[in-house]
Amino acid sequence: MPDKTLRVGLGTDIHRLESGRALLLGGVSIEFSSGLVGHSDADVLVHAVCDALLGAAALGDLGEHFPDDDPRYEGVSSLTLLDRVMTLLGEAGWRPVNVDCVVHAEAPRLAPYREAIRECIAEHLRLPITDVGIKAKTGEGLGPVGQGEAIAATCACLIAPLHATQLS
Ligand code: MG
Repeated sequence: MPDKTLRVGLGTDIHRLESGRALLLGGVSIEFSSGLVGHSDADVLVHAVCDALLGAAALGDLGEHFPDDDPRYEGVSSLTLLDRVMTLLGEAGWRPVNVDCVVHAEAPRLAPYREAIRECIAEHLRLPITDVGIKAKTGEGLGPVGQGEAIAATCACLIAPLHATQLS
């Protein structure tokens, strides 16, 4: 069981955009002409959140727990993976305190979806929506994000011991 301390985690991910695919970000369906390519549903934001949580608890990374060559995870909802990450985190004696995320996308505009994304992630992390930050940045026309070839995400999180009543 972890001692009374807080730990920080960081997760990043990037997925390629392809026309005619569904776009899911933070578990929310986004209206757009293209979507992300991946073995699972390619929800780049949820993947970054998973990796931040796993990293904070030193539990490895998403690819290690859910290999992308494993047919069991083909087309799987990334929210299912997040739920499993929450189970792993709990079994190791940790709970999330807050997450702060950045989605790097040239398009579409994410402002209309921000609250729905916060709500969805908060629900799966069993946190109030006020503990989930979502920001969106463009790539300023530079690199794969700026050229509209990919969407990337970054997440920082804090975790605390599950049963600690008082944090040091
Ligand atoms: Mg990924």
